[in-house]
Amino acid sequence: MTIAAFRGTAFGTLMQVVVTDPDHLESATSAVERVVDTIDRTCSRFRDDSELSILLASPGRHESTVSEMLGRAIACALRAAELTDGAVDPTVGGAVRNAGYTVDFGALAPDGAPIPLTIHPVPGWRRITYAPATRAVEIPAGIEVDLGATAKALASDLAAAAASDALGGGGVLVSLGGDVAVAGMPPDDGWHVQIAENSQAPITRDGETIAIHSGGVATSSTTVRRWRRGGVELHHIIDPATGLPAIGPWRTVSVVAGNCVDANIAATAAIVRGFAAMAWLETAGLPARLVDRSGDVRRVGGWPPRVLRRPER
Ligand code: AMP
Ligand code: MG
Repeated sequence: MTIAAFRGTAFGTLMQVVVTDPDHLESATSAVERVVDTIDRTCSRFRDDSELSILLASPGRHESTVSEMLGRAIACALRAAELTDGAVDPTVGGAVRNAGYTVDFGALAPDGAPIPLTIHPVPGWRRITYAPATRAVEIPAGIEVDLGATAKALASDLAAAAASDALGGGGVLVSLGGDVAVAGMPPDDGWHVQIAENSQAPITRDGETIAIHSGGVATSSTTVRRWRRGGVELHHIIDPATGLPAIGPWRTVSVVAGNCVDANIAATAAIVRGFAAMAWLETAGLPARLVDRSGDVRRVGGWPPRVLRRPER
């Protein structure tokens, strides 16, 4: 089967759209771009004109009826928090900013003067209320909502589904910076996904590759979105209990699940939870690959052993 791929950028990272029928690449890519654009316009914390930024810009307590997409993204973030006991929590916005991640990553200075870093638990997701039936949301004053972790994975899931629908069920893979979702009829031997710490890494012969027929794969890593302030290394995954970048044993976690949102929730939660994540992933039946700080790899929950390819002759 010939497959065709489009590469572009979205959410400040690499976007890839892959289809099983090359004639479908253009319509699949348009469908993906529509979804990505809608999520960016509703959920981005880096654009002042996003629905979320406008909602949070007014002083005091925020009460509003939100759009269908923002409602979906908020519900998704709150579900993530509930499933992970708050290891993934959308109220990390202030902590992310305090750690110095204030602008789109591409524009963030890699080095800078010291910044105050103090332990301060995040406000906590339970303080946000959202009623799906009316799409009414209430956010107490001072809580900065960051939908970054779940909204990008949601975009992958919705984009893959929309693109496959536009193709009458044709096979589509969407990757948004390490958040991979597939939909429709897969290739006979599945979608081959190379697992890497950096979603921009080139595909190589000796890269570790898995195959999926449905669902999603997500990778969260502390190695790529990093910066330094006053000589202190910082990264973008916050431990809600301390409000500081997570300091657990794992630098990268990849998870396979029934959709990309669930894979991403588990991957981000594993970085925050540290060693305890291994048993949790195993119990949840989620195949996962965890890389520790020294580069050693653990595979749990049925993640396949690495197959070494024979060298080319
Ligand atoms: P991911 O790449 O999926 O692990 O998501 C990381 C992004 O989600 C960061 O860039 C932050 O915007 C946000 N974030 C960081 N830590 C957390 C956390 N513990 N819970 C929810 N969102 C987080
Ligand atoms: Mg992710």
